[in-house]
Amino acid sequence: MSDGLHFNETLYPGVQVSYTCDEILYQEKTEHQDLVLFSNPVFGKVLMLDGVTQVTTADEFIYHEMMSHVPILAHGAARNVLIVGGGDCGLAEEVLKHASVDKLVQVEIDGSVVDFSREHFGDFNQGVLDDPRFELVIADGIKFSAETERRFDVVIVDSTDPHGPGAVLFSEAFYRNIHRLLTPGGVLVTQNGVPFLQKQELVTSIERFSRIFKDAAAYVAAIPTYFGGHMALGWASDNPDLRRQVVSVLEERFRAADFTTQYYTPDVHAAAFALPRFILDAVEEGRAKA
Ligand code: SAM
Repeated sequence: MSDGLHFNETLYPGVQVSYTCDEILYQEKTEHQDLVLFSNPVFGKVLMLDGVTQVTTADEFIYHEMMSHVPILAHGAARNVLIVGGGDCGLAEEVLKHASVDKLVQVEIDGSVVDFSREHFGDFNQGVLDDPRFELVIADGIKFSAETERRFDVVIVDSTDPHGPGAVLFSEAFYRNIHRLLTPGGVLVTQNGVPFLQKQELVTSIERFSRIFKDAAAYVAAIPTYFGGHMALGWASDNPDLRRQVVSVLEERFRAADFTTQYYTPDVHAAAFALPRFILDAVEEGRAKA
């Protein structure tokens, strides 16, 4: 919702987050969603899809580093990675920092988001689309996951919220498809909302993970433009040891990976799985429901 001077996010009843708009940089009604990019004095370029903040140039590093380096360094031998969603390509940029990754496939439903991000988000997706390891597939993630014969060590779902085109990416059918295409001991990570305001989203995903995977859990990160406190990142794997990696092992792997970060550290990685009580309650509620 906008008066031309402000863009207001009204995702939660009773709450409105208002951004001053210095300039509308791009606006388009795509085949799948309303896309607007505007500049804000605090967060830089702000992308909204269907009126919901997706990514900003100021704080994208937090979400993208925690969605990528945590599963890849926990796994320790991830060669083939799949991103579902992720149209702005900020997550892909972080995954491709791992020289150990041989192949990154990204399945995005809306090609317009990628095209526009190539033009407007060079700040944080430099070189992704030209990287020979990167393969972009424009398709619905649930269709791709049901039909592909390819296998992946790590799958990262960087989706919109569970309504509109993103709803299917929170379904049990989709999680079962992902379980089928993961290599043994592989790991799934999902964007799972802000538990303080979207608790049921996390409970439902954990419930569905628990029916399919041996280990269902979550970790957290604080992203300023995902209003409402901690963001939950869903975690599912048949290898329960992966999320209990000791810091010394993570430090060794991070050193060997040899790149710099602005948020991620091995200590932050390990600490991210120590959940505040109310979020742990949501995870335990989901497990109990399975
Ligand atoms: N980090 C953001 C968040 O947490 O809200 C998400 C960013 S990313 C831009 C979300 C992407 O998911 C969008 O580009 C959207 O087009 C894509 N998407 C939504 N539904 C999809 C589906 N069913 N299959 C593949 N991509 C989908």
